[in-house]
Amino acid sequence: MNIILLGPPGVGKGTYAEILKEKLELPHISTGDILREMAKEETEEGKNIKEIMDKGNLIPDELITEILKKRLKKEDCKNGFILDGYPRTIPQAESLKKIIKMDKVIDYAAKDEIILQRLGGRLTCRSCGAIFHAKNSPPKKNGICDNCGGELYTREDQTDEAIKERLKVYRNQTEPLIEYYQKEELLIEIDANAGLDQVDKIIGESLDAIEGEE
Ligand code: ADP
Repeated sequence: MNIILLGPPGVGKGTYAEILKEKLELPHISTGDILREMAKEETEEGKNIKEIMDKGNLIPDELITEILKKRLKKEDCKNGFILDGYPRTIPQAESLKKIIKMDKVIDYAAKDEIILQRLGGRLTCRSCGAIFHAKNSPPKKNGICDNCGGELYTREDQTDEAIKERLKVYRNQTEPLIEYYQKEELLIEIDANAGLDQVDKIIGESLDAIEGEE
């Protein structure tokens, strides 16, 4: 079973993918995670990728498609996979169609105001990487990590400006994929406005849809 997960940044896609991966025994392929690893490298390519990601923009279609193609050739994908973060544009969807046939596309939908609320205010510890939220789960002491005493900061791609840009990019470039996959008759829509508060319900609906029940 080859599955695509769609949905705006911050909708909880990464979390749903990790659970579905266990339930369906399929690998979770996150292009964001692959790129974040590449962005750590001190090479020209690594630096370019980091610069694009920090601004909230998209990596060129050709480059990301090459990266994905390589990943899909690995042994663990032979029974299927869960794609998270790809395709993100119509040209990427067209490329994917040439590489392999997809079975289901799940779109997790949530409103802009909910996304902005969830993504804004995220704080990361410079030392241990722990994540806090200024409103939802604030640290005990302002600016200081509860776990290790390290300094808390806002990651480059999580500043208000970058978040707005990511959302704009999503609405302009990625949202057209919903209609694209509707036409291909692969689309399943799931309301994810409740987010991680109702993760069990959202996963249940996803599994029913994947397994073809009403
Ligand atoms: P989000 O945090 O928005 O869910 P991801 O973790 O999936 O995003 O990806 C983070 C960043 O990696 C994106 O903002 C983009 O710069 C880049 N990226 C990931 N997947 C793709 C892709 N398929 N095409 C182009 N850029 C991508």
